[in-house]
Amino acid sequence: MTEVTFYDWILECDVDATREIYQKVLQGSAETCDCIYCKNFLALRDELFQGEFLKLLNNLGVDYRKDVEIYHKATLEKGKHLYAGWFHSIGKVKQNGNVVILKNELQVYFMQNKDLMFDEFEGKNLIQIEFDNVVLPWILADLPEPKQ
Ligand SMILES: [Zn+2]
Repeated sequence: MTEVTFYDWILECDVDATREIYQKVLQGSAETCDCIYCKNFLALRDELFQGEFLKLLNNLGVDYRKDVEIYHKATLEKGKHLYAGWFHSIGKVKQNGNVVILKNELQVYFMQNKDLMFDEFEGKNLIQIEFDNVVLPWILADLPEPKQ
């Protein structure tokens, strides 16, 4: 187990085992979903997952292209959209911390949940790496239907 410190959080991680599983998982949820919100997310994903958050995912053995879940939370002011989602890695939260707010306002925190986990993680202790407050522009030519 590797100890990974992220701000005031301390995580115990099996990085090699996590990497092996991400090699077996073929696609993340955003790629298997047909909705237009996920397509917009995919178009911007490489720009979003950068810097500290990408480094964290790499340190935990997580492939940022294989999210467990991405969801569209709200339409903000014109042309802006709020998303959130999560990843899993093998291990446990050793010390709880506060929600971390990164430079681009991205919020990151950790839980010990297995929500919608990939089958490949069956039987493992999992850290659920939550990310929230992802604000993205709309870059697709097709616009989403206005929500009720
Ligand atoms: Zn979708």
